[in-house]
Amino acid sequence: MNDYNKMLIISGPSGAGKSTICKYLVERFPDIYLSISSTTRAKREGETEGKEYFFVSEEEFKRGIANNEFLEWANVHGNYYGTSLVNIQKAIDKDKVILFEIDVQGFNSIKKIYPKAFSAFITTKNIETLRSRLEFRHSESEAIIDKRLKNALKEMQEVSKFEYLVINEDIEESKKALYCIIKSLYYVNSANISFSLTQNWQINIKDV
Ligand code: 5GP
Repeated sequence: MNDYNKMLIISGPSGAGKSTICKYLVERFPDIYLSISSTTRAKREGETEGKEYFFVSEEEFKRGIANNEFLEWANVHGNYYGTSLVNIQKAIDKDKVILFEIDVQGFNSIKKIYPKAFSAFITTKNIETLRSRLEFRHSESEAIIDKRLKNALKEMQEVSKFEYLVINEDIEESKKALYCIIKSLYYVNSANISFSLTQNWQINIKDV
């Protein structure tokens, strides 16, 4: 199943708008599977267990790593984040379009496992815009914002690896761009699809 290709990995600096866009996509495509990660970071105001994340202790997370429960995991800004293997396998079995909102380390890991996964990098046009967005959301301290900005500079180094690049200046435009990318995934060809279509056609030819 490693040639599964109905996947979109969305990465980019924290504060660039990834979560807002993913929320929009899930509303527009109720049948896509948005991977819900586990994390050791503290729950933010307004977040709900099992909706944005599964919030777990460091001990629980490490147990998950030891038991090979994660498709990928990474330490991002000092907290652990990971994608559950079993949920992704279930989504693949149902032939779902799968959406990951993960960092660049996670992107690199998933691309190794599923080289045909598509990827989109969402960012702001410069670091000042990112800083003011992070400050505006008032969810992190100054020290954490600095850490996230440093990490953003690191993530930007990998931008050329992504198939799609969305510079999020206008959130409505960015939502539309990602809508089109997701829509296209419903039409991505695969060996499985084309094989069963060919089979159907052969049966019909015999019937003629
Ligand atoms: P936040 O704390 O702002 O929700 O997320 C911080 C960063 O962790 C974001 O870049 C987000 O995309 C990333 N992230 C969330 N879940 C995962 C995951 O399961 N794996 C990896 N590698 N990164 C994740």
